[in-house]
Amino acid sequence: QQHLVWLRNDLRTQDNPALYEASQQGHVIAVFVITHKQWESHHDSHTKLSLIYQRLKVLQEELGSLGIPLKVIEAKQYSHIPQALLELGKSLSISGLWFNNEYPLNESRRDRAVEKHFVAEGLSVHRFHGDVIFPPGSVLTGQNEMFQVFTPFARRWRQLFRQGFSKHGLSPYPKPKRQKSDILLNNIPHDDIPPFGEPLKESQGRSHEKSHDESYRQSYRDDLWPANSQAIHRKLTAFAQKRLERYGEDRDMPSLPGTSTLSPYLTIGALGIRECLAAAEKSAAKQPGSNTTLLDEWLDCTWVTELIWREFYRHIMAAHPKISWGKCFRPAGDNVRWDDNEKAFQAWCEGNTGFPIVDAGMRQLKQTGWMHNRVRMITAAFLAKLTLVDWHKGEAFFMQHLIDGDFASNNGGWQWSASVGADAAPYFRIFNPYRQAERFDPEGEYVRRFVPELQSLPAKQIHKPSLEQCRQLGYPDPIIDYSQARKRALAVLEAAFKHG
Ligand code: FAD
Repeated sequence: QQHLVWLRNDLRTQDNPALYEASQQGHVIAVFVITHKQWESHHDSHTKLSLIYQRLKVLQEELGSLGIPLKVIEAKQYSHIPQALLELGKSLSISGLWFNNEYPLNESRRDRAVEKHFVAEGLSVHRFHGDVIFPPGSVLTGQNEMFQVFTPFARRWRQLFRQGFSKHGLSPYPKPKRQKSDILLNNIPHDDIPPFGEPLKESQGRSHEKSHDESYRQSYRDDLWPANSQAIHRKLTAFAQKRLERYGEDRDMPSLPGTSTLSPYLTIGALGIRECLAAAEKSAAKQPGSNTTLLDEWLDCTWVTELIWREFYRHIMAAHPKISWGKCFRPAGDNVRWDDNEKAFQAWCEGNTGFPIVDAGMRQLKQTGWMHNRVRMITAAFLAKLTLVDWHKGEAFFMQHLIDGDFASNNGGWQWSASVGADAAPYFRIFNPYRQAERFDPEGEYVRRFVPELQSLPAKQIHKPSLEQCRQLGYPDPIIDYSQARKRALAVLEAAFKHG
């Protein structure tokens, strides 16, 4: 019997439940579907698509060594996938389709349509949860409802983890065994992978965003984001062994390599969530003087909390489909009267706001395809609150440029930053970019790295250069006055939240 495994955001051979379980049943053929139009409408960035392309090439080799051919088909939109997959499945005489679930609305609708098509033809469909530890809908309050805020969700998540996995641990799924008779060599070859991830051509772009695309066109940097499994796993192991212990202290300092920078791999599924947790557990076991208490404590570490944030936003998205069509989690958020300030938006996109920490973040995004979490919060809050530009524009811009662009985490981060999301903090909490910079980049090292114009300024002045210094150094004047912008933001948000 031949089984078709449809790879999507799970581009790995290890810790891949659908791939592993299918391989236990018979011969496996893998398939990936290129969907240019859909990716474009989801604002997937050039760098992220390039990473996917590079990863597919690696995966084809890895699958090849297991005797599994990788087929690659193209479908413009998700709506074309059911027919295209079915035709492929029939031509290969498969008996079943296997895949790991994706939770955003368009993806879950696509998957339901595919399932219907296959079942109608008498073919079996097998679905798994490869992207999360607990699937949406399974971490609930005492009233069987989804949590509205993170902290009690995380508490419950950990409780369930301890109940479910403390006895036998949580092992990543192994790689499938090499297939016995080699269908790859005999009759089903790999498909060529047509290159993708090239920058959008003029005619394809979204017209009003074209100018940002032009100035922000990044190229994929394989020195920063290697696609091969050994390099990715080395990165995970090095982080777990050397930096995890200090993560709680270092993670908010953007000048330090304090976080794992594994997000691009988690986003495209080159790395599995179980692999991350297993690495954290193993690192606790290796600490000098580790004992059973410590072993149990690894689950409480801050890094695991961040991985739980990732699941939280997936659960929120699945429980509230309105989020996928652009609505705010908090209904009052839909009443905010955003300011259509194109000039401020442009300055923000280009990293020329005259606020050094904001500009450093936007330039890091441009140069590397990635931005430090603390600076994502600062830049997002700056746009949504201090310039009052609609957060949806920032959300789309991030997706267009992040190599780790992930709908649930990006949307969750933006709604949090704009105070319209699933968050306990009140709307009137407004980040002061000057204070944030002084606190999290006290020596100005991060700013110096990405805003070279300001390199010569001492730490005391670098976060708030005088107008004279700005002119001398060729750095823009601030596009807003912080105190006035803060007052204006409070008034606009109050109108929506108090009276909305
Ligand atoms: P680490 O600190 O090492 O954390 C480990 C992993 O946990 C990350 O790789 C990520 O998968 C997950 N994680 C960490 N923090 C968060 C968080 N706050 N929310 C959800 N998951 C988290 N993350 C994305 O993966 N894709 C996005 O598109 C994205 N957009 C964001 C937009 C905004 C406005 C904000 C405030 C945050 C966004 N994040 C996003 C969350 C976070 O900034 C990144 O996950 C993190 O910076 C990735 O770096 P790291 O791998 O070194 O993380």
